Amino acid sequence: MEDCIFCKIINGEIPCFKVYEDDRVLAFEDINPIAPGHTLIIPKNHAENLFEIPDEDLAAIHLASKKIARAMKKALAPTGIACLQLNGKGANQVVMHYHFHLVPRHEGAPELPITAWELKPGDMQQIEETAKKIAAALND
Ligand code: AMP
Ligand code: ZN
Repeated sequence: MEDCIFCKIINGEIPCFKVYEDDRVLAFEDINPIAPGHTLIIPKNHAENLFEIPDEDLAAIHLASKKIARAMKKALAPTGIACLQLNGKGANQVVMHYHFHLVPRHEGAPELPITAWELKPGDMQQIEETAKKIAAALND
């Protein structure tokens, strides 16, 4: 897609630090890394987000994430790996080409707020109502 920075990386118009590639996906280092080894996995066919991406590409990304996470564990010995994927501007998605973040975590590194939320019990009635709404929408 024209004017998509990640499509330009796939087409070789913009360089990247590639770590993995197969028929459907490309994985490369984030140039504003939250932590050393912060890697993005993207589909080669442009899709904006989870609402659009075809099942086959989504599956390929998750299979690649497993391979890359294992390689990260070997290469970087992290204490854990956070997986993160944002959909839509409301969720702070900045690049509108689907991408799956793998962020290696290390002892003493600053917390990622999204991975360290406070556990406060919700309103069970509200939780039940919301669950029913989503479940009903699945059957629409
Ligand atoms: P977000 O859309 O918020 O999930 O994040 C977009 C991510 O893409 C950010 O972490 C950016 O640092 C990263 N990014 C943007 N442009 C490039 C690029 N040319 N190469 C590598 N990473 C990039
Ligand atoms: Zn694109």
